[in-house]
Amino acid sequence: NLDVHRHEQCEFKQSYLVAEALGKGAFAQVHVAINRVTGERFAVKMIDRRRMAQAERQRKLDENFRVETSILARVRHPAVVQVHGVFRERDFLYLVLDLAADGELFDEIVRREFLSEDHSRRVMLQLLLAIRHLNRMGIVHRDIKLENILLADRASLRIKLADFGLAKIVGEQAFMKTVCGTPMYVAPEVLTVRQVGVYDKLVDMWSLGVVLYICLCGFPPFSDELAPPPMRDQIIAGMYSFPSPYWDSVSPEAIDLVCQMLQVDPRNRISVDAALAHPWLRACRTQAGWAI
Ligand code: ADP
Ligand code: MG
Repeated sequence: NLDVHRHEQCEFKQSYLVAEALGKGAFAQVHVAINRVTGERFAVKMIDRRRMAQAERQRKLDENFRVETSILARVRHPAVVQVHGVFRERDFLYLVLDLAADGELFDEIVRREFLSEDHSRRVMLQLLLAIRHLNRMGIVHRDIKLENILLADRASLRIKLADFGLAKIVGEQAFMKTVCGTPMYVAPEVLTVRQVGVYDKLVDMWSLGVVLYICLCGFPPFSDELAPPPMRDQIIAGMYSFPSPYWDSVSPEAIDLVCQMLQVDPRNRISVDAALAHPWLRACRTQAGWAI
């Protein structure tokens, strides 16, 4: 039911009015898009093909866009951003998505400093259910981080996982960046193997472990601002701690789950199913509206 339009002209702009900016990425600009007929509000990720100078790189961008939008189109999950339309024009590619009106989880944690265990659990449960769904379809997100976890509703902490439709493009970029930039969420095996595609779905569980750690205390487990070894070496060695007083009131069950997710050897890392069965998450399985 996905509309794929192939036109040289501005069919997208005939259907949608582009409104305020929501965010920006490497190739993409994200704005609110208002359907001109229904008035319904969406998010549109606009990719400027002209930023790819060489025709070959443009073709690669187009191919990735095609592959990834078709993957994204198959995914239907309440905690994953849904695609509503794909437009390919001469200069721009457009991806019309659910609008996650309350922004990034990143900014919400900055505002609140950290999340309570109940709120962290609520976020984690949604993420694990989304990842389980993706894994069952053979999809690895590869770029889970607080900037890609969006809030559909701030009050109830309803989240939407985003930015995986183009994860391959951005994923390769992000991988290149990890060597010289910020690998804060990157699993150790990605840093050591140095080859995209050989690591597996457990890289998402590592990233989720970093997300859970940050939710519970408000700062990252690995950082260049903490200890002398560079962050890359901290990650490879699994060097992190639960410093007092920030972690003093966090339950042992929550800490245990973080430890099981942040296992350097992927063979020892907790699986998505085991995480969903973990005592810390079982605590909320009986809560109304959060049934698995
Ligand atoms: P990139 O692949 O370039 O990182 P993203 O898909 O992550 O692009 O989008 C960049 C930013 O735009 C996000 O971090 C978020 O702030 C905003 N954004 C993206 N998609 C949506 C959406 N569906 N609803 C609201 N904001 C969004
Ligand atoms: Mg992003």
